[in-house]
Amino acid sequence: MEHQPDVIVIGAGVIGLCSAWRLAQQGLKVTVLEQDEPIPGASVNSLGVLAYPTPLRQSPFLSLHRESLGMFPQFAQELTEASGIDVQFTRCGSMEIIPTEPQREQAEKEVKVVNAQRLKVDGRPALELLSTREAKQVEREAITTEFGALYSNLTAQVSVDNLLHALRAAGEKIGVVYRNGCRAQHIAIGREKVKGVACGSETMLCPRVVACTGAWTSQLGPLLKRNAYVEPVRGQAILLETPRRLLQGVLKWKKKYVIALGENLAALGSTTEKDSGFDISATPQGLLEILTITTEALPALASCAVKRVWAGLRPAALDSKPYLGPVPGAEGLYVAAGHYKVGFGFAPLTGEVIAQLIAEGDCAHDISALLPRLCEPVNKKKRKDGQASESPAGDAGNGDL
Ligand SMILES: Cc1cc2nc3c(=O)[nH]c(=O)nc-3n(C[C@H](O)[C@H](O)[C@H](O)COP(=O)(O)OP(=O)(O)OC[C@H]3O[C@@H](n4cnc5c(N)ncnc54)[C@H](O)[C@@H]3O)c2cc1C
Repeated sequence: MEHQPDVIVIGAGVIGLCSAWRLAQQGLKVTVLEQDEPIPGASVNSLGVLAYPTPLRQSPFLSLHRESLGMFPQFAQELTEASGIDVQFTRCGSMEIIPTEPQREQAEKEVKVVNAQRLKVDGRPALELLSTREAKQVEREAITTEFGALYSNLTAQVSVDNLLHALRAAGEKIGVVYRNGCRAQHIAIGREKVKGVACGSETMLCPRVVACTGAWTSQLGPLLKRNAYVEPVRGQAILLETPRRLLQGVLKWKKKYVIALGENLAALGSTTEKDSGFDISATPQGLLEILTITTEALPALASCAVKRVWAGLRPAALDSKPYLGPVPGAEGLYVAAGHYKVGFGFAPLTGEVIAQLIAEGDCAHDISALLPRLCEPVNKKKRKDGQASESPAGDAGNGDL
């Protein structure tokens, strides 16, 4: 019998897969459309680090981000059990080498705020300021500075491949249908209500559609372009084969980072390229930028074999915050896109919100700051003072990488 979906999810990145799984858990029949195979989106190109935002910044978006990160241990366990695939959630920790006195002062403030909240991880403070000697004890192969390091016990990692496979498998077990090679051309809307999705010569009828289309979201018609404007921001990364384990967790230095993937692999990231368009090439300039900084931080990387280089397109709203919720102008149309650098950390909350909104008409989280909204493409305009305006997706201090 043909699968007549209650909901069509467009996009099989981490956000689409997570939303589909949660929707199916609510008893809804879900079909996921994905435009290509292999999937070109950001998720498969991610490094799977789950980093908390700086405690010095507070906003409704950052509160939701922290909430989602807090949901992760239980989410990972539930997903592992539901799929039979271990998503390898680990509190690996992260150490940021401090390069200057002002940054040391900033780090001291962060630790003070977190200590005041008495936030602990396995009995240790969530954030710790390390002396030069202590930093050397944690990451023995890393360089040190006289300013020491900031260590976060909260930072975690997951296996990106396992997590994506697990979401797909968990969904499949409860009836989610995946259609690959099926590019949604547009969303059919009549009398301000969603009718379905046009794919090639076929229109799939369905009253509810969720656009989880990452960097491509603005291409799905004028309503999404107006209410959920997203641009691609390219991120390049490098995988090295290491002769032994060179580091314990995530190592950060000058906005670049290294992460150990098991005993004999290390991933290095990443660039933030706002004018890349939809080009997913890795470039000498991008790779050089990553290698220069990461080999400075961890000199032993310089002689390791390069296993792979790649690039992915992060979906960035102009204010760097995701869009989450119903899209005005078309009953039944929802969006979950624009997760920029934090899509993995934000996935548990996103999936829950989308499922609750569609199944129950409301959700348990205050998402008012993330509702679809008009964002002007600021880089296309001149500011009043005649300067070129700020480019999109400025860093939001949100634990991004
Ligand atoms: C190098 C790099 C490292 C990163 N590291 C981290 C990290 O450590 N931690 C973290 O949290 N985040 C990280 N990110 C960011 C993270 O990958 C993104 O935030 C996240 O993957 C966004 O997920 P998404 O599902 O919204 O988008 P995507 O993964 O891009 O998925 C969108 C999907 O929609 C599909 N699609 C689009 N249009 C259509 C259409 N019309 N029809 C059918 N299908 C369509 C696309 O093919 C795509 O597969 C990193 C990103 C990069 C590039």
